[in-house]
Amino acid sequence: MATHHYDLIISGAGPAGASCAMALEGSGLKIALLDKYEFPRDKICGDFIAAKGVRELISIKPSLKERFEKFPHKVVNRSTQLFVNKMDPIQIDWVLKSYTIKRELFDNELVQSILETGKIDFFPAHAVKDVEVNDQEVSASTAKGDVFKAKMIIGADGAHSPVAKLLAGYKVNRNHYGGSVRAYYSGVENIDPAVNEIYAHKDVLPGYFWLFPISASEANVGVGMQSRYITSKKINLKELFYRFIDQSPVLQSKLGNAQIESKLEGFGLPFYSQKYTVSGNRFLLIGDAASMIDPTNGEGIMPAITSGNMAAQHILRAFEKERFDAGFNEAFSNNLHGRYWKEMRLKSWVVNTFADKNRVLNMMGYLCVKSPFIRRSFKKLL
Ligand SMILES: Cc1cc2nc3c(=O)[nH]c(=O)nc-3n(C[C@H](O)[C@H](O)[C@H](O)COP(=O)(O)OP(=O)(O)OC[C@H]3O[C@@H](n4cnc5c(N)ncnc54)[C@H](O)[C@@H]3O)c2cc1C
Repeated sequence: MATHHYDLIISGAGPAGASCAMALEGSGLKIALLDKYEFPRDKICGDFIAAKGVRELISIKPSLKERFEKFPHKVVNRSTQLFVNKMDPIQIDWVLKSYTIKRELFDNELVQSILETGKIDFFPAHAVKDVEVNDQEVSASTAKGDVFKAKMIIGADGAHSPVAKLLAGYKVNRNHYGGSVRAYYSGVENIDPAVNEIYAHKDVLPGYFWLFPISASEANVGVGMQSRYITSKKINLKELFYRFIDQSPVLQSKLGNAQIESKLEGFGLPFYSQKYTVSGNRFLLIGDAASMIDPTNGEGIMPAITSGNMAAQHILRAFEKERFDAGFNEAFSNNLHGRYWKEMRLKSWVVNTFADKNRVLNMMGYLCVKSPFIRRSFKKLL
C-alpha cells in the first residue's frame, strides 16, 4: 500500500485510455495509467478495428503505422458481406483498410508502445475501486489499497467504469444498452480473411450475428442485440448463438467442421443513443465509460480512440490554464457531443424505428441488391 502523486490519472488501458496516454506522451505531465488486469488480457469484442480508428491512432502516434503494418497477427479487411435472411449475400467494398486483430494482442501492442517510451507509468493489476474529488485534487484508491492523487482523472475503464458510476452517477439503462456473446473458432472453412460477414436475420433482430475472420481458418463469431429486447423477449443469447449456427446452412458450411476455441462469453455495450455526462469537476470520461458505442453496428473502438485523443487535447489546455473545474471541463463535453451527437441521434432513430422490423430488413436487402444508390447510403450508415 502506498500513496502516489501524479498530474493525471488515467483509469483503464484499453483503446480509449491507451490513445489518451499516447497523445500525452510528449506533454511532460506526470501520468499514471492504471488497469485492473495484467497485460496481455482479453476483452470480449468482435475485434474489428475500423479504418477511421486506425487512421486516428496513426495521427496520434505516427510510428504505429509501421508497427501495425509489420504486425503479423492481423487481417486486413476490404469488404463486408451482408447476409439478409435467405437472400444472396450483398458485398460492400471499403476504400480504406480496416484491421481485425484479437483484442488481447491489439490492446497489448498499444500498451507496449507506451511502455517503450518510458514516459508514462503503467500500473497493471491496479483496479480503481473508489474515487473522491475535493477542491485541491482527485484521489483514486485501488482494490490493493494504493492511493493515487492527481489534478485530474480520466475514466477510460470501460462499460462498467467505476469512475463514471462514482463521479457522473452513471447507471445502466436497458433502452440505451446492448448485450452480446462471442467465441473464437478454428478450422473455419469457406471464408476469405479480407471479408467480414454480417448476418441480419429475423431470428436475431434487432441485432446481428457476425463472423469476422482473424486468419484464413480462424474467426471471431458472435451475436448481439439491444438489451431491452433481450429482457422483454426473454432471450438467452448463448442459446440463440448456437441455434442460429445450427439452423443456418451458410454458417454450417463454414462452422460445421470447426472447433470452438474459447468460452462463449458475454459483455455489455453502452450505446451512444442519449447524451451522457462526460465531464465534471476534475474528471473526463472517454470510450465505453462515456457510452460512446455506435447503436447501429456496435462499433466502439474508433470512438474510444477519438475520444481519447480529444480528452488529451483538453487536458493540455486544462494544465496550461490551471483549470480543472466542471465549468472548464464542459468544453470537452461540448466538443465530444458536438462532433458525434447529431450523427448518433439519427442512427438511434433509425435503429429504434426500423431495427426490429423484418419486412423493412427484407426491403432494404432487396433495394441494396437492386440499387447502387441504396447500397451506398447503407454503407454510410454502417
Ligand atoms: C461482444 C462485443 C463485440 C464488439 N465488437 C466490436 C468490434 O468489432 N469493433 C468495435 O469497434 N467495437 C466493438 N465492440 C465495442 C468495443 O469492444 C468497445 O467499444 C471498446 O473496447 C471500448 O474501448 P475502451 O477503451 O473504452 O474500453 P475497454 O476496451 O473495455 O477498456 C477498458 C479498460 O479498463 C480496464 N478496467 C476496467 N475496470 C477497471 C478498474 N476498476 N480500474 C482500472 N481499470 C479498469 C479494463 O481492464 C480495460 O483494460 C464490441 C463490444 C462487445 C461487447
